[in-house]
This record gives sequence, structure tokens and C-alpha cells, in this order.
Amino acid sequence: MVNGRRKKKNAYIALGSNLGRRERNISAALNALETTKEIDVAKVSSLFETEPVGGPDDQPRFINAAAHLRTSLSPERLLAVCQQIESSLGRKREVPWGPRSIDLDILVFADEIRSDPELMIPHPLLHERRFVLEPLAEIAPDLVHPTLDQTIQQLYDALLAAS
Ligand code: ADP
Ligand code: MG
Repeated sequence: MVNGRRKKKNAYIALGSNLGRRERNISAALNALETTKEIDVAKVSSLFETEPVGGPDDQPRFINAAAHLRTSLSPERLLAVCQQIESSLGRKREVPWGPRSIDLDILVFADEIRSDPELMIPHPLLHERRFVLEPLAEIAPDLVHPTLDQTIQQLYDALLAAS
């Protein structure tokens, strides 16, 4: 649209940290998102301390959260902003699923669908991960998953029932 004044869309992201000052990393990432002109941080979940899933043995516990953003950026540009914030907070990409100062994942972006390995939305593991669904269910229980056609609360209840 003219002058990039596109209508803002709803996006939901997951935040995670298990290195350094974990809570400070999460709040620094949220601050950086909020100070990005095209992004409003509409709602943030509580912080949840969780056991690591996958990756090397004995890595520290994570702090996880979810946030509801409103943004005029495209999904690709939002990913670029998230990756830039990860680098600025000292994220190194070495061990898969290994320790990280900050991880920002796009979970859902309006009703957009992407299947590029560089950008998959809805996030393919969203409905399998308690550490993602628990914070997301706190802030967006009625959000309908764009491809599974169930609400986040339903997906979270199903995951709890299966475990
Ligand atoms: P992970 O989040 O799986 O632990 P990384 O944060 O290192 O791993 O991301 C690995 C790659 O995942 C990135 O290069 C990014 O391009 C890609 N990716 C694909 N879909 C998404 C998404 N929805 N949100 C964030 N990154 C994504
Ligand atoms: Mg990631």
C-alpha cells in the first residue's frame, strides 16, 4: 500500500532463553520489538520456566513466553527483524536446539501460510510443544490455528491429555 501504510495484522511469537540473564534477554527482545516502528506488542504472557527439549544433555532450563504482536510488516520482514534482534542479543547459531541467549519464533501470522524451510508458518511444531502452547494459551486461547482448525486451547488440552 502507499507509503507502506499497510493495515496491521495479528502475529504471535514464541520467546525462549536458556543462557545468560534469561529474563533480561526476554524483556530486551520485547523492548526491541516494541521500539520497531511497524510493530506493536499487544500482549505478553507470563514467563514459564521449562525443561529443555532436544539438544545436548544437561543444558540449562529455559524461560519461555509468548507475545501477541500487531504489525504492518510482511511475515518475511518480521522474521528478519526477529533474527536481527537475536543477533543483537548475542545469539550464536551453533548446536541445533542447543543453549541460546534468545530464540524468537513466529508461531502464527494472521491466516498466512508459508512452507519454505526458512519460514514456516504456522510454526510446524507449535501444536506439539507444551512450552509453546502453555504461554500461547494464556494470551490467545480462542485463536484458531490456520491449518488445524482448532483453537489454541483445544490444541493445548489435547496435548495435555496425550501426555
Ligand atoms: P529453532 O528455533 O528451531 O530452535 P533456530 O532459531 O536456529 O532454530 O532457527 C532455524 C531456522 O528456522 C532459521 O534459519 C529460520 O529461517 C527458520 N524458520 C523457519 N520457520 C520459522 C519460523 N516460523 N520462525 C522462526 N524461524 C523459522
Ligand atoms: Mg528459532
